[in-house]
Amino acid sequence: MTEQLVAIHPEGYSSNSCVYCQKSSSDSSVTVGMYPSRMSCLFYQAIIDRGWVRSGEYCYKPDMRRTCCPQYTIRLDVGEFSPSRGQRKAVHRWNRYVSLGKKNGGSAETSNGANPSKRKKTTTSSSPFSLVKSLHAAEASSVIENSTTYRFEVTIEPSSMSDEKFELYSKYQADVHRDFDQTKSKFQAFLVNSPLEYSPIPYTKEPPDYLPSNYGTYHQLYHLDGKLIAMSILDILPFCVASTYFIYDTAYERFSLGTLSALREAALVKEIQEHGAMEMKYLYMGYYVPASRKMRYKGDFSPSYLLDPEQYSWHLLKPLVPMFDKYRYVSFANPVHSLEGHDMPVLEPPPEISDDDASEIWTWYEYDDWKPLKDSVYWEEPSQELTLLRTIEYLGVDLAKKSSFMFSE
Ligand SMILES: [Zn+2]
Repeated sequence: MTEQLVAIHPEGYSSNSCVYCQKSSSDSSVTVGMYPSRMSCLFYQAIIDRGWVRSGEYCYKPDMRRTCCPQYTIRLDVGEFSPSRGQRKAVHRWNRYVSLGKKNGGSAETSNGANPSKRKKTTTSSSPFSLVKSLHAAEASSVIENSTTYRFEVTIEPSSMSDEKFELYSKYQADVHRDFDQTKSKFQAFLVNSPLEYSPIPYTKEPPDYLPSNYGTYHQLYHLDGKLIAMSILDILPFCVASTYFIYDTAYERFSLGTLSALREAALVKEIQEHGAMEMKYLYMGYYVPASRKMRYKGDFSPSYLLDPEQYSWHLLKPLVPMFDKYRYVSFANPVHSLEGHDMPVLEPPPEISDDDASEIWTWYEYDDWKPLKDSVYWEEPSQELTLLRTIEYLGVDLAKKSSFMFSE
């Protein structure tokens, strides 16, 4: 039985400086964290539906009521999604560029011998916009060989390390974040490593080769004439594609590659579902941070929904936006619990758990020394007890019962 449990190394409560508001204080961003191992995709799906997120092998969840910039889990309902005019234009603009070359493909530039009339006709302005078809339209696999100016390929592969990925990441960090101090090990820890276990996607129709066969952590790679120009880090889970990070070559900044990647991820959800994995419905776009202007583009994907930080129910984003002007922290399910800017509640101790529950939650101390929480050595150490109770509070008792806990040395 213990074999099926997710092994969790709890890290407890921690505070850091905030990346969203750049507050000078080093403890304004507060989270609870853990290192899980042997984590099934279904378990990860369950914790992101409680507001957790992963960064490499580390998972954390903000203390929403006390952190300076609350981070709400945001998801797009792909079945209801229809791309905005701007989003459709971004797709066409990129396809024209791939097909015709420079100047955004604005003029019929055929100096490379490319003949646009040879392209397979997939969409026209008079036909309705098909997200999946339009996104594939300029790919090398969809066009007649050498009929486009550039060879454009999008592939998806299990997360792994390579020199070209590291080079793209280093350039991105330098150009976008002015961070010139990258190493392969940092890149590996942040964007390659993952605690997720691969498990088969239950397709009922034979999927095309370019769709992944398993749930798990993937890199989606964008190559132009053989050069890696962008990469998404994706977790493919039972109900969603969860977008973890996106890096790109800033030489292509004008093409809104971030928007194109989100559209492509929405299309991936659609295609996986269309091949029989019926539960696949959503694109999770990470956190929506009202305090951060950079995050607002996520709201342009409509209809998107935010996770309520108290009831873990989903609420349509659009009508909520005015509330973020008034409150620092908002509960959509319990609006009276919302808090204004400086209204900072004290940190309450985590709730106690019943003896019954404590007899169904497992800990292990050394190899094979399994004990229910109530008999655990950790229970005798107040700081470990506090960390365990806090982690159980953030996971919820039901998920805690599917976990086994151990403190890292
Ligand atoms: Zn902040």
